Amino acid sequence: MHLAILKESAAGETRVALLPESLKTLVAQGIAVSVQCGAGVAAGASDAAFTAAGATVTADRGAILGSADILPVVNAPNAADQARLKAGAVVIGFLKPLDAPGELATAIAGNVTLFSMELVPRISRAQSMDALSSMATVAGYKAVIDAAALLPRLFPMLMTAAGTIPPAKVFVIGAGVAGLQAIATARRLGAVVEAYDVRAAAGEQVRSLGAKFLDVDLGGINAEGGGGYAAELTEEALDRGRDLITKTAAQSDVIVTTAQVPGRPAPRLIRRAAVEAMRPGSVLVDLAAPAGGNCELTRPGMTQVMGGVTLMAPMNLPATVAVDASKLYARNILNFLGLIVKKGELHVDLGDEVLAGACVAHQGSPVNPRVAKLLQTAPAAS
Ligand code: NAD
Repeated sequence: MHLAILKESAAGETRVALLPESLKTLVAQGIAVSVQCGAGVAAGASDAAFTAAGATVTADRGAILGSADILPVVNAPNAADQARLKAGAVVIGFLKPLDAPGELATAIAGNVTLFSMELVPRISRAQSMDALSSMATVAGYKAVIDAAALLPRLFPMLMTAAGTIPPAKVFVIGAGVAGLQAIATARRLGAVVEAYDVRAAAGEQVRSLGAKFLDVDLGGINAEGGGGYAAELTEEALDRGRDLITKTAAQSDVIVTTAQVPGRPAPRLIRRAAVEAMRPGSVLVDLAAPAGGNCELTRPGMTQVMGGVTLMAPMNLPATVAVDASKLYARNILNFLGLIVKKGELHVDLGDEVLAGACVAHQGSPVNPRVAKLLQTAPAAS
């Protein structure tokens, strides 16, 4: 059996799906591993390290694609790459099946089996494969580090002979995986941290990190959407959050916003007035940018300075921490491979709830019902 690792082709992508250290158990099972030249360089893994780990390194991307039985990726291969895959090959990665299902059409039509890391069920057994959480952890950390680097203030309180510097005030919106890591990072740097989330359950986790949880009376509606996620709120309930955010923004040096509702555009929580209320020099990092953003002024992928306030909307912060982001991702992928590779052979058993949950398409048809529905209306791949 042949496993292939490509150099990611998406602009700005520096991560790699597997690292040399990941190959040991695969090579020991007799699996032939091919790696495209330079695939891991930005993530700290040289071609020589892949070779030493038992892989064959080659510049021939087409040959790698054509021979792969398993292709772990970070991002979905484009349509031209998909067309080179053989029928029955398995692709695993962040395939965006709910955001851009049409871009998977070539692989589905070519009988390629697709597993999406976004769809891995968040159950205990699959925690070690939870790549969304791994990447959210990295993004939450890096958002605070980037904001601290830009802020013309210090984070910790300093008592010096020249006087006392008060601590920076950080406001985190959305206390899920990324938000909690942002809180922990800001606290470690000495900031005073406040956080807001619609899920009441987040309050205890926020307080346990030494931050203040801001409660909003949402008018008695249920903000829990199941599986630990938030539900999509009514405009009236969203407005109550927006009012709190505008008030808190005026006192904040840094805002890191992470609010998301799975499968929906990110809720617009931060009004223009909230940004205008921030002091010049303040920094807002909108981690929800890939889903459209939490701030109404956000332009995904752009950094803007408005009235002295910097608004960052990064699309791929994990790629700016490629070494450790790849380490975590590679472990998630390797754990997932453990479900479909037995003694060096490929076994796809969709009776397994993790595989069934993560499977986008198998044997020429969409497996995930939401993807199937979306594909009826999705535009064809370009
Ligand atoms: P997410 O990225 O979907 O959302 C981030 C946060 O935004 C969530 O905490 C959500 O409540 C919040 N949010 C949504 N709408 C909002 C609004 N209008 N105003 C304010 N906040 C809003 O979520 P996530 O970070 O991926 O995880 C969410 C939950 O899932 C957490 O409770 C987490 O502990 C849980 N989780 C469980 C597992 C597991 O069991 N294996 C793994 C990962 C996460």
